[in-house]
Amino acid sequence: MPNYSASNIDVKRVNRINVIKTILAHDKISQPDLTHKLALSWPTVLQNVKDLIDLGLVEEVGAFASTGGRRARAFAPVRDAKACVGIDVTQNHISLVLVNIAGDLIKYTRMKSAFSMDDDYLTDLGKAVTKFVEASGYDIENIVSAGISLPGIINSSGKYILYSHVLKLENTPASAFTRHIPFKCNMINDANAAGFAEMYGQPEKKNAVYVSLSNSVGGSILSTGAFYLGDNLRAGEIGHNTLYPEGRTCYCGKSGCLDAYCSSKVLTQYSDGDLAQFFGKLKAGDKALRQVWHQYLVDLSYAINSLRMIFDCDVIIGGYVGGYLEEYQYELEKLVSERNTFGYDASYVKICRYKLEASAVGAAFAEIDNFIRQI
Ligand SMILES: [Zn+2]
Repeated sequence: MPNYSASNIDVKRVNRINVIKTILAHDKISQPDLTHKLALSWPTVLQNVKDLIDLGLVEEVGAFASTGGRRARAFAPVRDAKACVGIDVTQNHISLVLVNIAGDLIKYTRMKSAFSMDDDYLTDLGKAVTKFVEASGYDIENIVSAGISLPGIINSSGKYILYSHVLKLENTPASAFTRHIPFKCNMINDANAAGFAEMYGQPEKKNAVYVSLSNSVGGSILSTGAFYLGDNLRAGEIGHNTLYPEGRTCYCGKSGCLDAYCSSKVLTQYSDGDLAQFFGKLKAGDKALRQVWHQYLVDLSYAINSLRMIFDCDVIIGGYVGGYLEEYQYELEKLVSERNTFGYDASYVKICRYKLEASAVGAAFAEIDNFIRQI
């Protein structure tokens, strides 16, 4: 994500945020490199570095060899000084991750658990989170907060679930959901979380559209490092873009939505609901599934081309199906390239870095980002 500008928050705070983010992006960085990357004077950088050392987030780690004159001082992040928990709740699973302040994934687990707002489910969720953190060996005192990713529309404060078709929730306060989790919690939409995970720690990347191909099709739009949410917090609901007017019926009740052509269910209906089995049979040369897969990629290429034409940025493909796409990237790029009005380039199509754990990781990264903004 790009460094912050000083449009809304004061210059001192922006400098603080950019100093810590730059140090966190390196294993070790010299004083000249740090001042050069930040384009700030050394006294300004030094004051911030001193404060960050006092907070236990940065340490001085000797000196870099210099080609002449004095050896340059060097600084490093204290990577495990703080950590955040990421929790991804779906209809039938819970994923948990622990991510440190430097963005390292410390621990990940995924368990089967059918969602419900019953106290039994919520108590078990709280116990699972506590046990997970304890098992990591991480000092519970250093856990800043937990980010919870959900398939639904979350209000801008992250404290209210406005609507979730999948979890059958409407106007539910987050506190009702998180009452057994022993950390401060914020909610985030699952596709936004996954998109955030894909972009995190890459200051050169400014804009991207993330497409989630799971049991339903969703997406998120990141513009100059922030989510574009739209007037009704529904931006990125690309699953309900019309692909074929009068086409297949979507679960939303309309006809021809992208979801009816590109959700993972389109594939798993041929493999007992098991996506790994679908790709296993495809690899083994099943001719009928080959045809299904080709049509799936054709339909996906239409959607990708539309997104590229509208947003003119990278299109990152994730979700359950995204986890299997690497092997078929060339085939997909060829189809996308054939539709490109402005040349044949399809290198803007990116396959996700994170697979099943994307939303949980993104929820944790969002918490780390919040923490860094408040240092
Ligand atoms: Zn629909």
